[in-house]
Amino acid sequence: MKILIQKYGGTSVNTPEARELVASRVIAAREEGYTPVVVVSAIGRLGEPYATDTLINFVRHTYSEVSPREMDLLMSCGEIISGITLTAAIQKAGHQAIFLTGAQAGIITDHNFNEARIIKVKPENVIRYAREDKVVIVAGFQGVTEEGDITTLGRGGSDTTAAALGVALGAQYVDIYTDVEGIMTADPRIVGEAQTLKMVTYDEICQLAYEGAKVIHPRAVEIVMQANIPLRVKSIFSNAPGTLVTNLGEVYKGTIDITRDRVITGITQISNLTQFKINTEGEENLKQQRRLFSSLALAGISLDFINVNSKEVIFTVKEELAHKASQILENVSFTPEVNYNCAKVATVGAGMSGVPGVMAGIVEALTKEEIQILQANDSYTTIWVLVKQEDMEKAIRALHRQFVANEKEKR
Ligand code: ASP
Ligand code: MG
Repeated sequence: MKILIQKYGGTSVNTPEARELVASRVIAAREEGYTPVVVVSAIGRLGEPYATDTLINFVRHTYSEVSPREMDLLMSCGEIISGITLTAAIQKAGHQAIFLTGAQAGIITDHNFNEARIIKVKPENVIRYAREDKVVIVAGFQGVTEEGDITTLGRGGSDTTAAALGVALGAQYVDIYTDVEGIMTADPRIVGEAQTLKMVTYDEICQLAYEGAKVIHPRAVEIVMQANIPLRVKSIFSNAPGTLVTNLGEVYKGTIDITRDRVITGITQISNLTQFKINTEGEENLKQQRRLFSSLALAGISLDFINVNSKEVIFTVKEELAHKASQILENVSFTPEVNYNCAKVATVGAGMSGVPGVMAGIVEALTKEEIQILQANDSYTTIWVLVKQEDMEKAIRALHRQFVANEKEKR
């Protein structure tokens, strides 16, 4: 069997017309000789009757404290409704189809309700039905503990189901269908000339996804990456090839001089961050650093963009945690300088590793626009800069012009 995983998001199954389109894509895959295994999300978005957020709000509206275990059972209903509806659409199109819950599909997780991790997949049921020539439709986002409790995989977790099944079944591809044409070089609402990427590496898409591009769940990418299974992000509404996500060797294949290939793949951003700067200078410097970090850790505050030197400690937190972080620091007698309304802009590209001048290009692009860099940091695929929120869009456009727009043919 040549297995093809097709995952359909909530906006791909929310009208009878959309479901017909999905059914036709499933059938087309069969006609091409694939055995499709379909993973679905709950129908629609908040406000639509069976969307995950609607189910959550329905109960929380009256009962603010619902236990995580029961919440998972409730949330798992969305994908069941969606999956059965799609199964009916495929049957109506004249094909045999069968629906499986996460548990029935053998998605076994740990006990971490609401954010469970898949610990193994027992794909026997899926394989058996697929061998009987049935289209197997699996509820995304849900699994079961070894003891039989239903769990969910964290918001956006249907991608993770698709990836895990892809690995367990040795799929040819994991196709993630959505309402955009693929992964873009920047947010098209900010950059008019943003382009759809033909290919990106697993690392690049993880960076883009962690930093805000919401097209795919980074956990899903980590899973397919381990087994080197190619993933494609495609639009349900077009026949465009979408974006292929694969390993570095495939994406940069045939490149003799990496500096002549694309250096930067895309630009992405996270808003609503607060920067803290704390002076720790003095004799007790090391002790102070320890006290500072342990008090924030004890309060469960997650830090980002951390910078420590002999004089000060700098980091960012999400805006909603800024007040709490200030209070904790003041309680342990620090006087932080707090810089609200910041945004982190990430310039991502596996091709930048070892290439001189990338930071120089970033500085050139931003200073030309009179944008102050408040902080910078880098890894081998990404350079991050922190800027004021009001400069964010201008910064993204400047970086896109500098690195992407002029190198169109390399994408
Ligand atoms: N329905 C779930 C959610 O809204 C899972 C998903 O859509 O991937 O988070
Ligand atoms: Mg999603």
